[in-house]
Amino acid sequence: MLTEKDIIFFTNLLGEDFCTKPHYLYAYSYDSTRLNFLPEAVIFPRDEIEISKIMSYCNQHNIAIIPRGAGSGMSGGSLAFKGGIILALEKYFNKILEIDSKNMLACVQPGVRNQELQNALNKVNLFYPPDPASMEFSTIGGNVAENAGGMKAAKYGTTKDYVLALRAVLPNGEIIRVGKKTIKDVAGYNLAGILIASEGTLGVITEITLKVLPKPKYSCALIASFANFKDAMNAVYESMSSGVIPVAMEFLDYLTLQAVKIKIKNDNELISFFNANALLICELDSMDKNSLNMQIKTLESIFKNNASLQTKISDTRQEFDLIWNIRRNASQAITCYGIKKLNEDITVPRSNLQTLLDGIYKIGQKYNFEIPCFGHAGDGNVHVNVMLKNNDQQTLERGYSAVKEIFELTIKLEGTLSGEHGIGISKAEFMPLAFSKAELDLMRSIKKAFDPNNILNPNKMGL
Ligand SMILES: Cc1cc2nc3c(=O)[nH]c(=O)nc-3n(C[C@H](O)[C@H](O)[C@H](O)COP(=O)(O)OP(=O)(O)OC[C@H]3O[C@@H](n4cnc5c(N)ncnc54)[C@H](O)[C@@H]3O)c2cc1C
Repeated sequence: MLTEKDIIFFTNLLGEDFCTKPHYLYAYSYDSTRLNFLPEAVIFPRDEIEISKIMSYCNQHNIAIIPRGAGSGMSGGSLAFKGGIILALEKYFNKILEIDSKNMLACVQPGVRNQELQNALNKVNLFYPPDPASMEFSTIGGNVAENAGGMKAAKYGTTKDYVLALRAVLPNGEIIRVGKKTIKDVAGYNLAGILIASEGTLGVITEITLKVLPKPKYSCALIASFANFKDAMNAVYESMSSGVIPVAMEFLDYLTLQAVKIKIKNDNELISFFNANALLICELDSMDKNSLNMQIKTLESIFKNNASLQTKISDTRQEFDLIWNIRRNASQAITCYGIKKLNEDITVPRSNLQTLLDGIYKIGQKYNFEIPCFGHAGDGNVHVNVMLKNNDQQTLERGYSAVKEIFELTIKLEGTLSGEHGIGISKAEFMPLAFSKAELDLMRSIKKAFDPNNILNPNKMGL
């Protein structure tokens, strides 16, 4: 609980940007997990020096502090799980500081939304590849803290592949700058790398330098249907090693296909693609029209050689959107299978995707749940959805048991608990499934080196 002395300190430092009114506490009590924990206060620091003073005070007085971007996280990372103060960065840390086309980089404050950066880069024919589906509302700070990825990860990788340097405030109030503006930098430990995906547990990121790329001039979407998932995956392996690296390579399984079919209605001109057991949707891009055409030809022939039932390439923007709408509708459409979904974002090496899905369907049969799966075939990242028809305690417990078995299978197949959404609080209990005691101890000692008093986003990541 904050003391009278604490309240005086924060009010003197922040004035109206220290908020304890109930509506503020409520507004900052949840994220996309729909879990809900009321913080003791919400603060909006104006600059790095203020953050430094706040951290230093919290460190001395053992007050938990939780950094927050847009609160779109899917694992509870920005929640005041066991009380504490939310340090919200979206109000004042929202400036694009520099776009440097000589060095092909952008420097931003953490509260800049991913889409705002894209819009600014677009004006100078540049782009920043990491494109989480939440890009319109999630912040670059949150993206770095979660190492966010998106559809384009198949070709362009994830956030970690673009972070060159960071400024951050440590729990003791010290300000650090880690990484460099350079592409090459092998001096010392990779401290920026440790802050990426640290889920706000090691430092408050206050400035981010990112690598950016020239914006491809041409792109198109491709859709292909298959009689079975094995053929679809063979087409994926062959495509990825053909020299044509698709920007995105997405899959929908049979259950997801049936759900989307109901949603998009019969007059959709792609409806015949739904008479299949697996669907691939990909995107290709290039600076050069001829090169794009060559890529299309290569993929068409790979799909054909792997027994695709039908393929179509988008010729217009309208067709491009029509194809992608199938994928965009997946998450919502599958709600036809139940009133509650337990969705996870496990990832395996893509050569193990088929075995993973077979195992997931067996787990579904064992517990009598439909488990539609869709996601990023190119990078092995599956959105698994255990659909519950009831919300009672017994069904929920069976659902969680099914999820645990899915995690166990994922680890057995050399995969990871999360490809995108992080551990936060929702997957914390599963960390011992994925890491040995020695590995977890190492992580705990890193946390301790940064945050000996455990004041920064404590009780997260199972540490
Ligand atoms: C509809 C929807 C679609 C999504 N799609 C994707 C997707 O395709 N790919 C994907 O990867 N994720 C996706 N997400 C999850 C989420 O958007 C990402 O994890 C995103 O990176 C979170 O950004 P945020 O600004 O909302 O961060 P928040 O949710 O506010 O915080 C997330 C974590 O980052 C920490 N943090 C935030 N800012 C800072 C900072 N400046 N310094 C230190 N720590 C900080 C917080 O403490 C917390 O642990 C999706 C979410 C939704 C709701």
